[in-house]
Amino acid sequence: MKFNLTRIAPTPSGFLHLGNAYSFLLTKALAEKTGAKILLRIDDLDRERYRSEYVQDIFDSLDFLEITIDKGPKNLTEFEKEWSQIHRRPLYEQALEKLQETSHIFACTCSRKKIQSMDSSGYYLGHCLERRIPLDRKEAAWRINTLIADLIEFTEYPDSKIIQPIPLDTSFFMVRKKDQMPSYHMTSLVDDHYFEVDLIVRGQDLFSSSIAQTYLSEIVGFKKFKNIVFYHHLILKDAQKKKLSKSDGATSIHHLRKSGKKLSDVFRLIGEMMGSTVPISNMEDFKGILSL
Ligand SMILES: [Zn+2]
Repeated sequence: MKFNLTRIAPTPSGFLHLGNAYSFLLTKALAEKTGAKILLRIDDLDRERYRSEYVQDIFDSLDFLEITIDKGPKNLTEFEKEWSQIHRRPLYEQALEKLQETSHIFACTCSRKKIQSMDSSGYYLGHCLERRIPLDRKEAAWRINTLIADLIEFTEYPDSKIIQPIPLDTSFFMVRKKDQMPSYHMTSLVDDHYFEVDLIVRGQDLFSSSIAQTYLSEIVGFKKFKNIVFYHHLILKDAQKKKLSKSDGATSIHHLRKSGKKLSDVFRLIGEMMGSTVPISNMEDFKGILSL
């Protein structure tokens, strides 16, 4: 299978960890196999957690992992000048405007606390759907009415058809937050469409997001999104079987780099976390256990 463009899409909200390294190296392996170029897209619209040293860490980590970026910023200056999501805000606004013309969107004023108190699952069950709150109400988030969605269909790499309803954890997902900023689903979809990505590599924890974003693409009328192929990879866990986090120093790439570790050490650690019975120390070994 041939693809044109895949992407590496980190968030600068902390130092990258081995789970990110695994995802990036897997993206590189798939790009090599399928002829896809790699776009670097840094998701920085959430300004509260943004720190430029985290953006720098992304460049340093890619360097350390020997991943070459074909499209996108080469350094922090280029990123801030041309590639920050802030520059694409008009595109997000356009898509949100398009959504306003549809009957799929509704305003919601529920707080996180209220949503939690209405259902112990913490999932939003559409409380404001029938309240007809005007979309221009201050402090209102915009959500999608997922009750009227048909089954969603997309392709999982290499060629399995996934046909599923919108899962509970993304029902009535948000497209605009209370602060009027576009949500993650909105920006991710608009960016993938804008850059013409045709292969998305992301963790299994984002499987529901892939379903939600595919649905959103239909509503916004992004027809090309139909041809996108997804690869949902496993999520690396630490020795205690816990998901890796950006606040944990020991598994951060930054820490490994500073303590003199090499790329072969990263492959070895990733191999252990994947539960590989054979040791891996380079890209060829890694591709081998992934059967790529
Ligand atoms: Zn609500």
